Amino acid sequence: MARAELMDFDKALELFEPVIGLEVHVELNTVTKMFSPAPNPANAAYHDAEPNTLVSPVCLGLPGSLPVVNGDAVRKSISLGLALGCDIAESSRFARKNYFYPDLAKDYQISQYDEPIAHDGEVEVEISDGRVFRVPIERAHMEEDAGKLTHVGGATGRIQGAEYSLVDYNRAGVPLVEIVTRPIFGAEADAPEVAKAYVSTIRDIAISLGISEARMERGNLRCDANVSLRPRGQEALGIRTETKNVNSFRSIERAVRYEIQRQAAILAKGGSITQETRHWHEDTGTTSPGRPKSDADDYRYFPEPDLLPVVPSAELVEELRAALPEAPAARRRRLKAEWGFTDLEFQDVANGGLLNEVAETIAAGATPAAARKWWTGELTRLANAADTDAASLATPAQVAELAALVEAGTLTDRLARQVLEGVIAGEGSPQEVVDARGLAVVSDDGALIAAIDEALAAQPDVLAKIRDGKVQAAGAVIGAVMKAMRGQADAARVRELILERAAAE
Ligand code: ADP
Ligand code: MG
Repeated sequence: MARAELMDFDKALELFEPVIGLEVHVELNTVTKMFSPAPNPANAAYHDAEPNTLVSPVCLGLPGSLPVVNGDAVRKSISLGLALGCDIAESSRFARKNYFYPDLAKDYQISQYDEPIAHDGEVEVEISDGRVFRVPIERAHMEEDAGKLTHVGGATGRIQGAEYSLVDYNRAGVPLVEIVTRPIFGAEADAPEVAKAYVSTIRDIAISLGISEARMERGNLRCDANVSLRPRGQEALGIRTETKNVNSFRSIERAVRYEIQRQAAILAKGGSITQETRHWHEDTGTTSPGRPKSDADDYRYFPEPDLLPVVPSAELVEELRAALPEAPAARRRRLKAEWGFTDLEFQDVANGGLLNEVAETIAAGATPAAARKWWTGELTRLANAADTDAASLATPAQVAELAALVEAGTLTDRLARQVLEGVIAGEGSPQEVVDARGLAVVSDDGALIAAIDEALAAQPDVLAKIRDGKVQAAGAVIGAVMKAMRGQADAARVRELILERAAAE
């Protein structure tokens, strides 16, 4: 495949306004599936099931089977709709979307079409420099997921060139909410970052509601990114492409940026954009054509005759509204003020994905400054080196305990870093590592004085120098004592003892 020509990003922005639209699928973590009693693999209890073991006649589309709506999935969808600032429909209904689906045995997907459960919302999204964008939500509707195909024998893992394909129906019927934004205008050069931050905010919302595990790498959260460009000054929207199933936050940003540059190069030459789905390729950082897609795609939608409309009572909606957690953007503003961080300090924590870790470390007793320092400093450094997340290295309780040991003077920063290594290596709690490795600061004057005596014996002129006013001469003795005590002396106390000695003699 010929590599697409790209226009320089800044140049593309001069000529065109980017417009993006995001479709995010959230897998709900209910115990059973959307319309059947089969266990739901998007629930942690069933992650590791063997293929085709989480199925029922409904998931397999067997004759005579009938769907039944999962009430918990409906409640979770309503909570999500409310958290997105949407209106909840007094009556909403399911619709059949007809298609050839090898991974959905009925050959139609039960979705919602003209009467979604939630509509007309807005989400506040903060980008890395702290600016906030309001993303308009068109709708959030309930539907069922399809199964999973594995194409075996080809070079690419795609169906083209494969020898045969396997189908796993475990995922068929997993409850999904699809959240569709209105076209997002005005993000300009920040459009790629706004797309990323939006999906990340949806993840935060889903996690705070406890309705999904929301892990992109597991497919609990999937994003299709629509991108179009319009020449500056033009009212009508340009033709969009829809890049499917981009599976990390960073990839969303890269994919949107790539499409802007690719489409700009075509349009600037007088070419036209094909309305189509596109595939994102993580390794090359490029997109390639999927299938052409017109707005008139005929899925022969019609109301699902096997299900009644969903008519949530006003009491239920109000109950769920009252139980909503704080919105992520509001929480950020509150925490920033409570912690007293500067913009940069706060962004450091937020952009590192460490808000929860820092909050929990503070809740466990650390000062905001200490919590921030350990998570964005040493833990982030170690995580980068090990190519993992800081959160997977240590718990907030451990970090708070470490900070308390430093605060109490039991550990210097340097010793605390050694203790942290022990904690990460699984040697126990910070106090246990201090005990086991004998790492505490020596503040017992007797031991310090003995070490000072030894250092002075090797540098007998130091005391005279100090008495002559050259106090900095103490540095050499402090250094020797610290070395002799393998860094475990309290340097400030050593200095005091040396100055006392000089004054006394
Ligand atoms: P589809 O059936 O193609 O998935 P949806 O309505 O589910 O259509 O989603 C289309 C998404 O693309 C929405 O987020 C919408 O706001 C967005 N969109 C529509 N037109 C454009 C456009 N010209 N440029 C960018 N995004 C667009
Ligand atoms: Mg769609």
